[in-house]
Amino acid sequence: MCSVGGPTDIDLPEDRVVAKNYRCKECGERFKGIGKHPMCPSCQSEDVVEI
Ligand SMILES: [Zn+2]
Repeated sequence: MCSVGGPTDIDLPEDRVVAKNYRCKECGERFKGIGKHPMCPSCQSEDVVEI
């Protein structure tokens, strides 16, 4: 079988992680966060929304 095609690489390099922009609902601070539960750098709240 010929298996030349798209790569099935699931081991993504760490530096491919891109920070997203978030806004804190508590204090309105805008910041860039990485991960599922970014924390506001100003008030340490996790009540943030992606913008
Ligand atoms: Zn905040």
